Parts: sequence; structure tokens; C-alpha cells
Amino acid sequence: MTRGGLLATLAAGLLALPASSGQAGPVRVLAFWSTNVEGDHVEFAREALEFYGRFAAAHQFRFESTTRWDDLNARRLEGVTVVLWLNDFPHQASQREAFEHYMEKGGGWMGFHVAAYNDSGTHWPWFVNFLGGTVFYGNNWPPLPAWLRVDDASHPVTRHLPRRFLSPDNEWYSWRPSPRDNPEVKVLLTLEPSNFPLGLKDTIAGGDVPVVWTNTKYRMIYLNMGHGDKILTNGLQNRMFEDALLWLTRRH
Ligand code: ZN
Repeated sequence: MTRGGLLATLAAGLLALPASSGQAGPVRVLAFWSTNVEGDHVEFAREALEFYGRFAAAHQFRFESTTRWDDLNARRLEGVTVVLWLNDFPHQASQREAFEHYMEKGGGWMGFHVAAYNDSGTHWPWFVNFLGGTVFYGNNWPPLPAWLRVDDASHPVTRHLPRRFLSPDNEWYSWRPSPRDNPEVKVLLTLEPSNFPLGLKDTIAGGDVPVVWTNTKYRMIYLNMGHGDKILTNGLQNRMFEDALLWLTRRH
């Protein structure tokens, strides 16, 4: 091996370590979900657990899941590379504080659909800031497919997507203000204006409606998909779900 080749090999080895925890060993993913929420949300959570469970096994990640939100505590989160919230969020102060501490210390978070839901009754200002300063505003009903536009095709999360694609049926959320108004936020996918008005019983009339974004102050990503049993039927979108987890583990 040449000296250059040796250095390249060493560099590749270093890059393969998870940057987050600063320790060797497998990537660890801990998924939180709930069985006592809306049926369509449980349905997605179960399918996502299978989806990410298979993906994790293929990449030698350790993948665990729990419905005990009290597992959001310092001991349980130690060494966890990415925390996944599938259609719920912590409701107790101690769970929220443990999560805040974990994220402020460089933890990773991926949230789907209801994971980012917050309104005047949620009483968690830290989390509103974490999302980029945005609050749930409205939704469409019934769940419908929608055309999504890629905002940055060079990003590791979206690079395998075409510039636009038709997403499977979902209940889409709108936000106020738009997360895009925050300069720290990078929006990756947005509802195309051609979708509007979107919905029948409940309608998203228009405006700027990001559906996937990251607050660059944290190692986090939010994805609005997650309602019902059709979400994981689009191979392109599934690839993005995989790339999002890989990106959070910094193994690109
Ligand atoms: Zn929903």
C-alpha cells in the first residue's frame, strides 16, 4: 500500500465513526411510538418499525423500539445515535427535559407526522424553537396524495429523488410561521402550489407548506409523512426515509 493509500484508508476509517457520540461501536437507533393514539397513526408506526428494523439490520445498526416514553431519560439515551418518534411526542416534563438535554449535547432526532404537532395546549416552548419556531396551523382531510418539490437536490437526504414526485396518501400539515422564515432552517421538500386547494372536509388553501426540513442548529430532521398504511408504498420516498436516517448517523 502506498503512503497515500494508507492515509486514505485511515481517513475512511475515521469517517465511518458516528460523529455524534464520539465513540466507536454500532449506530444505535431508539424508536418511540404509542399504541393508544389514532388508528391510522399506529398503523404507520408499526410499518415504519418494520421498515427501519430491516434497514438497520442491513447496516448493522442496533435498532430498538419502545412504547414507554419514560425511556426518554439520561440513562436510556446514553450512547443512542438517533431517537425516532413515530406519531407521538413526550407529554411529561421529565421526558421532555431528558430529550432537550440529549439534543443539546449533540443527539440525533427524526420525527414523523404527529411527532412535531404542537399548539397552544402543548406548552413546550423549547420544542417550538427546536422545530424552527413553527406551530401546527392546519391539515387536509381526507388523506390525499400530493406533488412534492425538492428544494435542494444536492442534499444527502434528497439526492436520490427527482425534482418533483407524487407522494402517497397522507394527511398533510401546514405551519405558521413557515419554518422557511427561520434562517437556521433548511427546507428539503415542499408541497407544490399545484396541489392547492388540498382536501375536501379540511383544506390546505395554499401558501408555503414545507413537509421535510431540518433545523441546522441540531442533528435533526422532521418529515410530515406518517398517516395511514400507504406511506411506505413509494420506493423513491422510501429511499429518502433511508437516506434521512443515514444522514443523521453521518455515515455518508
Ligand atoms: Zn394524521
